[in-house]
Amino acid sequence: MAKKESTCSFCGSNRSAVKMLIAGISAHICDNCANQANRIIQEELSHQNKSTDGNSKSYKKINLLKPIEIKAHLDEYVIGQIDAKKVLSVAVYNHFKRINNQNITDETEIDKSNVVIVGRTGTGKTLLAKTIAKLLNVPFCIADATVLTEAGYVGEDVESILSRLLQAADYDVEAAQMGIVFIDEIDKIARKSDNPSITRDVSGEGVQQALLKLLEGATVNVPPQGGRKHPEQKMIQIDTKNILFICGGAFDGIENIIANRVNRQTIGFSSSDNERIEQDSLLKYINPLDIKTFGLIPELIGRFPVLTHLEPLKEEDLRRILMEPKNALIKQYVRLFELDSVKLSIEKEVYDFIVIKAVEFKLGARGLRSICEAIMTDAMFEIPSKKIETFNIDITYAKSKFEKSGLASLKVA
Ligand code: ADP
Repeated sequence: MAKKESTCSFCGSNRSAVKMLIAGISAHICDNCANQANRIIQEELSHQNKSTDGNSKSYKKINLLKPIEIKAHLDEYVIGQIDAKKVLSVAVYNHFKRINNQNITDETEIDKSNVVIVGRTGTGKTLLAKTIAKLLNVPFCIADATVLTEAGYVGEDVESILSRLLQAADYDVEAAQMGIVFIDEIDKIARKSDNPSITRDVSGEGVQQALLKLLEGATVNVPPQGGRKHPEQKMIQIDTKNILFICGGAFDGIENIIANRVNRQTIGFSSSDNERIEQDSLLKYINPLDIKTFGLIPELIGRFPVLTHLEPLKEEDLRRILMEPKNALIKQYVRLFELDSVKLSIEKEVYDFIVIKAVEFKLGARGLRSICEAIMTDAMFEIPSKKIETFNIDITYAKSKFEKSGLASLKVA
């Protein structure tokens, strides 16, 4: 009797009717069914990725932490700034709670919680926004308001901000639509008529107008590579409804506006320490009216329901920034030396010296890095070639390296 021809256990095709028949323990599968099974698996997997990973391979589900947990995380990276951390934690929590509950039909529609952070340079505005985005695992980009111009002027269209976000999201549109955008130097697009000290070009108000559309939640055509839009370019549509915008600015001179409003005189103050502190603490009282007086248009201010401020960093804060955060500068240098099997030690007076210089530079914590580099560069250059196990930096060494660097001659305004 002739041997019975094997058949595919899935579609029943005979061996002779298919290209290949793969044998299992007690069944067979033909190449057609194997291909089809593979397609089903891929489809199912991509579907699962979409529902569990926030529609993206690299961006997993948003970790919706409670405000207290968000703040606790910020505390690990950002020193001080307690008010701002609280306000931001609540704003971010509400923002993502709003997104997660968008499909529930309810009469109460929750507004977006775009944020403006007012604070001097180097006090942690960008760091706060960046840390939050990392915590939530959403795409994040930084845009500089000073390069933006309204359409028709030389510069970048406001849509280029979204190109950057798209790039940060690896062109995953859905992930980008849940991202966080940090717009720096928002104060530089203030209207100059309200504030004679701002020498912004004519486009200041035009840029503010152009930004409105992005902020309120609209579908925007974005050139994927950024730059200027041109007619032949292929555009990607991005809905900004769920993008959180955090803007930062130093708003130089806003203390005087606040002082005038709260009817206190700070102009013409002598430079005594008490009076300086008095002026520093005025930011606490900032309200939307002050940024309007500064030159932001009311419509734009209306799109930023959350306004918070950062305190100027004092010596103690700068010292803590040097040593405490998870990725503190000193920890980084210690690690760099450790990788060459050298134990780095730094004497206390050196920290005092770095902090005092940073205060003189008036760059907030931004100055710490360049001062440290000035002190450490020679050591980092020479030590990898030396056979030593320890390296100690004392004040004499630190001062001599600093004095020889270009920083020492920097005149601070
Ligand atoms: P800006 O307020 O100008 O946006 P950044 O957030 O970019 O300042 O801070 C500049 C540098 O100083 C960053 O390296 C940041 O890590 C550090 N820094 C600033 N403020 C703080 C802070 N409050 N806590 C810890 N590090 C800070």
